[in-house]
Amino acid sequence: MSETLEFQAEARQLLQLMVHSIYSNKDIFLRELISNASDALDKLRLESLVNKDLSVDTGDLHIALEVDKDQRTLTVRDNGIGMSHEDVVSLIGTIAKSGTAELLRKLRESPEQQQRAELIGQFGVGFYSTFMVADRVTLVTRKAGESQGTRWESAGEGTYEIESLDDAPQGTAVTLHLKAEDSEDRLFDYTAEWKIREIVKKYSDFIAWPIRLDGADTPLNSMKALWARPRSEVADEEYHEFYKHVSHDWTDPFETIHMRGEGTFEYEALLFIPARAPFDLYTRDGKRGVQLYVKRVFIMDDCEALTPRYLRFVKGVVDAHDLSLNISREILQQDRQIQVVQRRLVKKVLSTLREIKDKDQQRYSTFWGEFGRTLKEGLLDDAENREALLDLILLPSTHSQEPTSMREYVERMQEGQSDIYYMTGESRAHVENSPHLEAFLAKGYEVLILTDPVDEVWVEQVTQYDERPLQSVAKGQVDLGAEEIAPERSEGFAPLLAWLGTTLEKDVKEVRLSTRLTTSAACIVGDEHDMTPTLERMYRAMGQ
Ligand code: ADP
Ligand code: MG
Repeated sequence: MSETLEFQAEARQLLQLMVHSIYSNKDIFLRELISNASDALDKLRLESLVNKDLSVDTGDLHIALEVDKDQRTLTVRDNGIGMSHEDVVSLIGTIAKSGTAELLRKLRESPEQQQRAELIGQFGVGFYSTFMVADRVTLVTRKAGESQGTRWESAGEGTYEIESLDDAPQGTAVTLHLKAEDSEDRLFDYTAEWKIREIVKKYSDFIAWPIRLDGADTPLNSMKALWARPRSEVADEEYHEFYKHVSHDWTDPFETIHMRGEGTFEYEALLFIPARAPFDLYTRDGKRGVQLYVKRVFIMDDCEALTPRYLRFVKGVVDAHDLSLNISREILQQDRQIQVVQRRLVKKVLSTLREIKDKDQQRYSTFWGEFGRTLKEGLLDDAENREALLDLILLPSTHSQEPTSMREYVERMQEGQSDIYYMTGESRAHVENSPHLEAFLAKGYEVLILTDPVDEVWVEQVTQYDERPLQSVAKGQVDLGAEEIAPERSEGFAPLLAWLGTTLEKDVKEVRLSTRLTTSAACIVGDEHDMTPTLERMYRAMGQ
């Protein structure tokens, strides 16, 4: 019996946009389907290795492409893990990415087709990309170990049909009923062998499973694990396509890092820094982007033992040679060798960023704009690499509108200036209008303007850079080497200070005369160890 169900609202809206905005490269639908099939094969192999009770034939795991020129259909079939009825409803009928609502809002606000296509590309709408080329999509699937199969079909217009099947082959087959409007255009003829070969070669060559066309024995892809090949033999385009497969991003990466560890613990790592921050960078609770393989066998996604939280934007693969296939996330976290690998990966990522920064400031600042905020979290979490991180941060300052590095700040320090000055606040304007800044600016001292919430926290931990103390201009006694306050001046102000002291008794610790200000009459200064007003607000907002 077949049921008609509605796509979840977000899924429906994304589908609509997918169908109606012209993404410039329709060919990628095949890359997306092959990527999903490959993931499903990876999962099945792992499952069969660790679950001895699962009786499935894993002797010929592969991806089959089948063309029917008369019916104008293209089928992508795998004998991988498959999906249960509930899986299909939840995985295909809904979108669970936490950035979806935000993305949809942006999409609605972008009138330009081009802009919309870019946003969709950033989001990487995998399976739904089929609706760029098909006006009907049928999916038949059966999960490994289950007897009931499921048939799903949709025209991408808001609803789908779903029914149970008694006889479905294990794995998943996705059949596209290609749009009639493309039938005359050679460029969009997805039933032509040359076209399919070209797309597979271009986007999916590295896929580790054989991709066979219409029953032919020779696979279309070379199947070479990219990370195991020497760097010199891999073209940038190959790296880029591999990145898209592991990251589900549609945009080329910002940087590729290919490394190998030899000795007692061998591993290969192929890591990527994305060009753009994903929508859910701050909402998905620090989920990591590096996959773990053991000798070419996929073990897990989002392996948190391999990268620290603050490098959660790094994507890629680590293939470790001497681990058990059965290893759990918990055990991995404790594994000494994995900890060593993590430390090497971190050092390599940070040194790569350093090289980019030294070589091409402009390029580095595009990276910083996307991930700077995340990287700053490392100043708190990673004491071992604090120095390296301090050399990577860019901060707004009173020197100019362009952010500065700590090194540049130090190079500009004035004769007699011993400390690195900063002020935290809600915004640049807020900080610039603060009376706290006056005396510093008057002396020609540069002040770092820290407006990210995370800044409030790291400045509490990081006390110096290059042996120069970091000093808040809003805290404690700042010795600017100013002229002494003349005794008769102190005397003159004594009654006022005493009166202010008693009147404000409940609110302030002390009222004192200062040379800190040049034009303002008074300002409130925090004690050396007090919370800053922004931090206080932050804690209050968190209910503490
Ligand atoms: P993503 O791959 O980014 O998760 P997709 O839209 O491509 O998003 O796929 C959604 C989900 O549907 C996948 O995560 C997977 O769980 C499931 N899926 C898609 N294709 C297959 C397949 N061939 N076999 C098993 N599961 C699949
Ligand atoms: Mg996918």
